Amino acid sequence: ASFSSLGLIEPLTRQLETLGYNAPKGVQQVSVPALLKGCDVKVKANTGSGKTAAFALPLLQRLYMTPPAGRGRKVRALVLSPSRELAMQVGESIRSYGALLQPKLKVVTVFGGVSVNPQMIALRGGADILVATPGRLLDLISKNAVKLNQLETLILDEADKLLSLGFSDELAKVFSLLPNQRQTALFSATFGDEVSALASKVLRQPLDIAL
Ligand code: AMP
Repeated sequence: ASFSSLGLIEPLTRQLETLGYNAPKGVQQVSVPALLKGCDVKVKANTGSGKTAAFALPLLQRLYMTPPAGRGRKVRALVLSPSRELAMQVGESIRSYGALLQPKLKVVTVFGGVSVNPQMIALRGGADILVATPGRLLDLISKNAVKLNQLETLILDEADKLLSLGFSDELAKVFSLLPNQRQTALFSATFGDEVSALASKVLRQPLDIAL
């Protein structure tokens, strides 16, 4: 298989070549076509499996192919990460995958432990993709710096860690602000009862991917 046979457009596949990604990994082969079609997915994937590209590539392509309707403080896609380190790493990966898209999509990363003002400024005019940890996201929502009511896609990355770190109340609050009509992807290394319950709450007829 090749990245272009998965349905990815040339500015993405050309950048993957530059990054030295010669062939899609297993999780990418299954997730990319499903997400490009607009399906919800529930994916069992470990760190190191290539899961970031598995959700980031179709996310970038769908946002790129469908121009936004309005502006304001709206966010088109949200990636929820359990930690500052993961959020930073995922934000950088998404920027790198999308480097050849013209015009570029706007990717903003926010997390706690640093001052909120630069993040509020970065969010002026909204964002195509917001990568966030749950607590800081809620702070920014309460300051009216972010609007999620027109969200098109939600990605829950490392859902088991989001729950084990005690973010379930924050997640519930975030979900209550999202439109029902959206695409959702959930990635987790493990699927215990709590993660499965979360998955059945947020996903609609998902494709179940476990390799
Ligand atoms: P992740 O599981 O998303 O943290 O990715 C693990 C590592 O694999 C990262 O360093 C990626 O840059 C790399 N990677 C992801 N997909 C591919 C691919 N198809 N070919 C080569 N490297 C990849």
